[in-house]
Amino acid sequence: MNKYALVTGGSRGIGRAVCVRLAKEGFHVIINYASNEAAAQETLQLMDGQGELLPFDVSNAEQVRAALADWQARHTGEYISVLVNNAGIRKDNVLALMPETDWHRVLNISLSGFFNVTQPLLPAMQLRKFGRIINMASVSGIKGLPGQVNYSAAKGGIIAATKSLAQEVARRGVTVNAVAPGFIKTDMTEGLDEAALCKQIPAARFGKPEEVAALVAFLASEDAAYITGSVISINGGLYT
Ligand code: NAP
Repeated sequence: MNKYALVTGGSRGIGRAVCVRLAKEGFHVIINYASNEAAAQETLQLMDGQGELLPFDVSNAEQVRAALADWQARHTGEYISVLVNNAGIRKDNVLALMPETDWHRVLNISLSGFFNVTQPLLPAMQLRKFGRIINMASVSGIKGLPGQVNYSAAKGGIIAATKSLAQEVARRGVTVNAVAPGFIKTDMTEGLDEAALCKQIPAARFGKPEEVAALVAFLASEDAAYITGSVISINGGLYT
C-alpha cells in the first residue's frame, strides 16, 4: 500500500520543503495550495513527480470536504496517514488598528483550517490505528509578538488544539504534535529587517525551510510513535 501524506500550503516555503523531504522518505505527497498553481507544480517537479496537486482553501470547510471526498473516490482502499497542517498567512497590525477582516482571515486559515482538514481525515487514521498529524505553530503562539495579536491567537489556538486532540486519539496510534518555528527564510518573512532580527537570535541567522522539514519528517516517522501532544520549537535559540 502507498503511504500518503497531505501537506497544506505545500506550494511554497516551509510546506514545499516538507513535501520534498517526505517524498524523499518514500511518501506519495499530496500538495495542497490556495491559488499558486505554478509554484505547486514546481514543488511537484522538485519531488521528481512523486505526488499530486490538490488545491483547496483550507478556510472553506465545504471546499475542503469536497476535495478530500473526490481524492478518496479516486483512491479506494487507501488513506492519508500523515497530515501536515502548514497553510498559514499573517496580516500584521497593532490591535488598535487591525481591520476586523484581518482578524477573521488569519484565524479562519491558520486555526479553522486545522479543523476543516483534520476532521475528515481522522476516522481513517483511527480505524487503521496509525496516523501522524503535525501542526505548524510559531514562536508567536508561544510567547506572543506585538503586531501579531491575530496570528498569535491562531497559533496559540493550534497549540492548545494539538494538546487536546493528542489525548483524544493516542490510544488509536495517532500522534498529534506542533512545530513552532522562529524566523524561517520564506516569502512570509520577506521584507523583514533580517540583519536587525538576527541580533536577537542566538544562532545569528534565520532558519531554512529544510531544517523545519527535517523535524516534520521525524515526527511523521514510525520512530516518533511515543511523541504526542508536544510543541517542538525550532528557532535558533530565540525563545526557550
Ligand atoms: P509562505 O511561504 O507564505 O507560504 C504559505 C503557503 O500557505 C503557500 O503554499 C500558500 O499557498 C498556502 N496558503 C495560504 N493560504 C491558504 C489557504 N487559505 N488554503 C490553502 N493554502 C493556503 O509561508 P511559510 O513561511 O512557508 O509558512 C508556512 C507555515 O509556517 C505557516 O503556517 C506559518 O504561519 C508558519 N510559520 C512560518 C514562519 C516563518 O518564519 N516563515 C515562522 C513560524 C511559523 P499559495 O502558494 O497558493 O498562496
